[in-house]
Amino acid sequence: MNLNLLEECRDAERIGISGHVRPDGDCVGACLGLWQYLSKSFPHAEVKVFLERPADIFREIKGFEEICSDFPQEAPFDVFFVLDAAADRLGDGVKYVETAAKSINIDHHISNQGSCMLNEIRPDVGSTCEIIYDLMEPERLDKDMAMAVYIGMIHDTGVFQYSNTTPATLEKAAKLISYGFDFPGLIQETFYQKTYVQAQIMGRTLMESIRFLEGNCIVSAIDRKSMEFYHAEPKDLDGIVNQLRNIEGIECAIFMYETGVLEYKVSLRSGEKVNVAEVAAYFGGGGHARAAGCTLSGTFHDCVNNLSLHIEKQLKRWEAEHDQRDNDDF
Ligand code: 5GP
Ligand code: MN
Repeated sequence: MNLNLLEECRDAERIGISGHVRPDGDCVGACLGLWQYLSKSFPHAEVKVFLERPADIFREIKGFEEICSDFPQEAPFDVFFVLDAAADRLGDGVKYVETAAKSINIDHHISNQGSCMLNEIRPDVGSTCEIIYDLMEPERLDKDMAMAVYIGMIHDTGVFQYSNTTPATLEKAAKLISYGFDFPGLIQETFYQKTYVQAQIMGRTLMESIRFLEGNCIVSAIDRKSMEFYHAEPKDLDGIVNQLRNIEGIECAIFMYETGVLEYKVSLRSGEKVNVAEVAAYFGGGGHARAAGCTLSGTFHDCVNNLSLHIEKQLKRWEAEHDQRDNDDF
């Protein structure tokens, strides 16, 4: 399907946009990029964005101050967009989808089966922002929109490093930076830069990490007491799991933080041997082959044991397939 954004919104007086809980760069960029595009294309329509308060690093994106984070009661929307997730990951925003005259889901998660009336789900595309860019009429694009969708692209591709980066991604990125926003500053300030506290937490979790499955896997966790000690919020933990995955020999990295009594939010990252989307999906979560997440109940050790069983199975499957292929070569 090829969604026509302007056609779908043509007669709408009220348009709503939302993305997943704990919004990341792709989610914020996609919501604000689309917000800008629709606000500019339909100046007489009311266009609103509903998102949990994003990290301050995204404050430079036009529309950041317009984000509504208290999810008030609203009259039904004519069109409501669900971006970078299925509707069940919107948190309080899901109520707007249920009452909207038309709902539209735009996402790139392989675990998303399509949760709205219209669904544009492209698991082969590296970021929701890249899909949003594809759906925009190029002549309507401006510097602020270019910056918004560029942020999503850099965040979900790890600054064009992950295997979800395609030649097409880079061609689009090339067009985007031609609008002249400060892309080196944006990459530094939204992707690499950490606050002192964030760096301390990262250091501590790296120090306390444990390798298992013959050094192929690594896990680290942070409990609620430590979160309180550092006055840290979940968004202060971004990047830790990637750092664990960067360690030599690691095929699968797990980072967990305690969200309640015997409850952990789990982030998974992997190389080619483990499909973490499958692991997360088994536990009711989702994501991509190389980056996924879920919520687990139990003690730290229960969680690691449960995850470990699935990861080990995948490592063995990969090794068996590769032994087979090596034999086939002879
Ligand atoms: P992160 O580890 O950065 O929170 O998430 C990695 C990827 O997995 C992201 O694309 C994110 O949307 C997805 N993800 C993380 N947690 C969950 C979850 O609980 N459910 C689903 N469906 N996706 C998740
Ligand atoms: Mn995304």
